[in-house]
Amino acid sequence: MPHPHAVAGMVSRLNDPHYARWASQVRATGGCRQPIHLRGKVQHIDRATGELLHSYSTRTEPDGVLRVPCKTRRASRCPACAEVYRADTYQLIRAGLAGGKGVPETVTAHPCLFVTLTAPSFGIVHTRREKNGKLLPCHARRDAATCPHGRVMSCAARHGSEETCLGEPLCPDCYDYAGSVLFNALASELWRRFTLALRRRLAKAAGLTVRELREQVTVSFAKVAEYQRRGVVHFHAVIRLDGPDGPSSPPPAWATADALADAVRHAASAVAVTVPAAEGEPARVLRWGAQLDVRPITMGGELTDQAVAGYIAKYATKAAECVGTLDRRISPLDDLDALPLRAHARRLIAECFRLGALDGLADLRLTQWAHMLGFRGHFSTKSRRYSTTFGQIREERAEHMRAEAVSTGRLPLFEEDTVLVIAEWEYAGQGYSLGDALLAAALTGVPLADSGGPR
Ligand SMILES: [Zn+2]
Ligand SMILES: [Zn+2]
Ligand SMILES: [Zn+2]
Repeated sequence: MPHPHAVAGMVSRLNDPHYARWASQVRATGGCRQPIHLRGKVQHIDRATGELLHSYSTRTEPDGVLRVPCKTRRASRCPACAEVYRADTYQLIRAGLAGGKGVPETVTAHPCLFVTLTAPSFGIVHTRREKNGKLLPCHARRDAATCPHGRVMSCAARHGSEETCLGEPLCPDCYDYAGSVLFNALASELWRRFTLALRRRLAKAAGLTVRELREQVTVSFAKVAEYQRRGVVHFHAVIRLDGPDGPSSPPPAWATADALADAVRHAASAVAVTVPAAEGEPARVLRWGAQLDVRPITMGGELTDQAVAGYIAKYATKAAECVGTLDRRISPLDDLDALPLRAHARRLIAECFRLGALDGLADLRLTQWAHMLGFRGHFSTKSRRYSTTFGQIREERAEHMRAEAVSTGRLPLFEEDTVLVIAEWEYAGQGYSLGDALLAAALTGVPLADSGGPR
């Protein structure tokens, strides 16, 4: 049963003479849960005569504002906009594997791998293990040691996929929380060093210098970060070899999938990042975990371009919330015990605050990124030559929507170079009131947020 306040809001919106226009604005946001309100005007003026050809102002709109989609990539914040982002990511990744969006189809013949780089272990955690479709015990040890905190380091349970203990340490007091958040903080740097080492190894194997390599081969990649349940990021990446001009040029004959796989394996094991010692904390050397997955991507083979594009696109809309942290910044002044956090996430966040207060580690900005468990990198990145860009994909869509608006008479069609467009916009808020949120959900078929509600 909705709150009486919400019901009153719904009634007054429904009785508003502008209701029909409000409803069409809401539909135009595509079900955005937290649309941005813009106030302003757009004028089309004839450059030659100064005549006002067309003008639009939000003054006549419901509440004097235009509602536009928030365009977040985070599914936890807005499922509808995140879905648009996911679809764009899919197109972008797919184009780099199968061609399209300006990438020639010949790219399918270039060596291409799907690589997963993981974090090392920071302590034994509960895991769901399967072998040949059979569920195995989590961490069964007959002569299991007892840790200094009196906990037996064994778990014979066969965990279900939704069990909340998954990813949690067998002994939280033994777990290396510092190592975990430092790894997250330096994962992007480790990736950068990995890509450099990869090029060096490729060059060396071909008897070239790195500079000479660049004249023959472009290494293109697209990667996405994914949080494992234990709260550390790992990376999934598409790595492809092109000729010197990117996807339109073939790589030299020596640059095979095997040569690339060798370079990936070598680079993953070779690179490290050193965390300097700081007030009572020892220096640490961080590396990738021993688990490294390298698989060729082939059209119609075991691992297809669609599967890879779908996989990367899916993770592009997720953040750390699945680990049980919060989807917003947390301050050291917040009472962590009062926030709805999982115990493991709470300890990781507390560790970010503890290490973030040390002068020697200030560069890692662990306090600001505590809600991300230390990771402050981009979730999905790609090299310049990988395929098309988000900008191009969005522009295509905007162009399509504009053409539609013109053909249905909502927008005038003017010659671009003869018309001066003057636009003034200001931010006037975001989201829905309780009553509006209920109506918007009914209009767009997008369910409301589980908690919190409108802001
Ligand atoms: Zn949205
Ligand atoms: Zn277990
Ligand atoms: Zn212990």
